[in-house]
Amino acid sequence: MAEKKTGRHCMFCGRKEKDVPYLLQGIDGHICSDCVRLAHEYIRDTFGAAAKAKKLGRIDDVKKPKEIKAYLDQYVIGQERAKRMLSVAVYNHYKRINHNLVDRPDDGVELEKANILLVGPTGTGKTLLARTIAKLLNVPFTIVDATVLTEAGYVGEDVESILTRLLQEADYEVAKAERGIVFIDEIDKIARKSDNPSITRDVSGEGVQQAMLKLLEGNVINVPPQGGRKHPEQEFIHINTENILFICGGAFEGIERRIAQRLNTQVIGFGSAKQRRIDKNNLLKYVDAQDMRAYGLIPEIIGRLPVITYLEALDRDALLRILTEPKNAILKQYEKLFEMDGIKLGIADGVKELIVDTAIKNKLGARGLRSICEQIFDDAMYDAPTSRRKTFTVTLDYAREKLKNRL
Ligand code: ADP
Repeated sequence: MAEKKTGRHCMFCGRKEKDVPYLLQGIDGHICSDCVRLAHEYIRDTFGAAAKAKKLGRIDDVKKPKEIKAYLDQYVIGQERAKRMLSVAVYNHYKRINHNLVDRPDDGVELEKANILLVGPTGTGKTLLARTIAKLLNVPFTIVDATVLTEAGYVGEDVESILTRLLQEADYEVAKAERGIVFIDEIDKIARKSDNPSITRDVSGEGVQQAMLKLLEGNVINVPPQGGRKHPEQEFIHINTENILFICGGAFEGIERRIAQRLNTQVIGFGSAKQRRIDKNNLLKYVDAQDMRAYGLIPEIIGRLPVITYLEALDRDALLRILTEPKNAILKQYEKLFEMDGIKLGIADGVKELIVDTAIKNKLGARGLRSICEQIFDDAMYDAPTSRRKTFTVTLDYAREKLKNRL
């Protein structure tokens, strides 16, 4: 029989008080600080988020940047620069997860994430890029609109709701959500309205940016699992955002003016010898952190969005390609719809150009293509299921007639 211990000792390892760093008093006995540490490590490694992440395992089929870009090419026309940068960012995101969450080597190298900012006019493919990436990935992904977010206490959604959605996408598995990707659209709408923070304290903009910063920085956030403030009784779930990749998008209307201003002063400053040729038709490609600051993003947010890239306005040629080339191009979709009614759709010469020119005229860009097509095909789609025709060809006259009220 074990010898009965006398005197103060650790009930876990049996060592006497004089042999351990500290002895902590419990109701019926003591535990030493070494055993506390070991127990803590055991619980962390067995039940903690890192352990869960490890259990989820490495992401093995990591797509290489070129593969990601090739996939994006099937759906998104043009926007080469943005596609390349996104491909690298997503590839690094996978590597970071494998390194930081799964392998956790003892070399002290923690890979920091590089969140992304996409700047470009509306309807040029920012959301499309994000959605397409989502299709390709096997990590949870969610899209949120920054305009619905408000500071806690104001009408609207708290920024934590972003994580609630991600958690839902991850089937409420915290470790899974912690390796996800979030697309925040319309980030420009929460810019500070005034460049000088001391003149007006702009609650709607700056407050939300401050709140959002918590997420972008990488913190443990208390997330209400059902979202909103309607369920005050719900228990919070803790989500660490350190390895969540944030992609932000915004039109930043009028940003070209600020870019031009900055470039002009730089040109004067450098002197004529160092002047570089500036592509005045596409100033967006020079966009950088200073312009974001001038537009009203706070420096801390900009610091957390180190990858800034741009999307170009779509020209006539790009719009024509968008109609027919992407894997789920709009005209391919109409072809399919008619085919399901046993009708072969034909499109005469000039109709595509008419659709594109109408979109340009109405200043709708790619966003307008669908509604214009809808107007052209609407009557035919109404008749198709009950008609005996085997073909339907849209002639230029027919299309003009349908669009008459619009032009
Ligand atoms: P944004 O987020 O930049 O405002 P979206 O990505 O929502 O614009 O674009 C709206 C629609 O226009 C898309 O659903 C898509 O059909 C079309 N579109 C826009 N840009 C492109 C592009 N570069 N390639 C293919 N389709 C595009």
